[in-house]
Amino acid sequence: MKRSAMLDLLRRHGVRPGRRLGQHFLGDRRLLERIVAALDAPAGAAVLEVGPGLGTLTRALLDRGARVMAVEIDRALRAPLLEVLGPYPVGAAPAIGPAGLAADVLGPRLTLLWADAVRLPWGALAGLEAGPWRLCSNLPYYVTGPFLASFLLGPLPWSDAVLLVQAEAAQRMGALPGTKAYGAFSCLVQYHAGVEVLFRVPRGAFVPPPDVDSVVVRLRPRARPPVATVRDHWLRVVRAAFGQRRKTLRNALAAGLGLEATGIELALQSAGIDGARRAETLSLEDFGRVADALAQAGRVEP
Ligand code: SAM
Repeated sequence: MKRSAMLDLLRRHGVRPGRRLGQHFLGDRRLLERIVAALDAPAGAAVLEVGPGLGTLTRALLDRGARVMAVEIDRALRAPLLEVLGPYPVGAAPAIGPAGLAADVLGPRLTLLWADAVRLPWGALAGLEAGPWRLCSNLPYYVTGPFLASFLLGPLPWSDAVLLVQAEAAQRMGALPGTKAYGAFSCLVQYHAGVEVLFRVPRGAFVPPPDVDSVVVRLRPRARPPVATVRDHWLRVVRAAFGQRRKTLRNALAAGLGLEATGIELALQSAGIDGARRAETLSLEDFGRVADALAQAGRVEP
């Protein structure tokens, strides 16, 4: 959709894009097609889209034959969104969708769900559709971390994700130990998925343009987790370690887990990890050894 058409659509419906909701709309057809083409989704595949906005990416997905569940938080976008997705029959008010959420069921291949994507009833969605699901979104940047945590830790089976995100978030997703960008978010994402940066999207491609750079990334689920430790226990240890990343591992873990530093030190010794190290120097597997040692020492419930 041309920039002028997007501005006209917004004006006619009295919508002012809000930075608070990360509303930077993408109309460039070539870029939208590149994003959708990167998604490994045969016709008929179930695709979850977060934040359809003005429906440009939704359209591109539908044109490829996907079955789309698009989750939008901002009801002010309902009228322009329904106009863009015009060929689909429209009811007067949203109906009741999965798990009691408001929904517009616009034919057999498109459902708009009016909800906060960070708090989706993942079990209900998994019950609706066996999957595997694909995830495709121009993500509202403020919600990238919480949404991905909720999605990855949830039960929805998925096989591919192509996401337009802030360049900095992409860097954090794929960051390696020993780098500034490496943190609990990197560990969480890499526990579940391989991360690949595909291409850049210029600021000027968005309406309105964001103040940050954007890239398209692909996530592919790992065949098996990189560590055998119980995931939630491992993650608790990772989050505690990075909770105070300037502190030594020993002190950060003691503070984050509410335990005595001496007990932590003993567990670290048995894991062969120096307690004076900083969290950012540990690999996912190192965190696994620490988590196992803490559980074996009875310091933390696995
Ligand atoms: N997909 C559209 C595009 O590419 O032009 C819009 C992308 S815009 C970056 C992000 C969209 O996510 C906006 O429509 C915004 O209202 C919506 N959004 C923001 N926070 C959300 C949340 N927590 N849950 C669902 N949608 C959200």
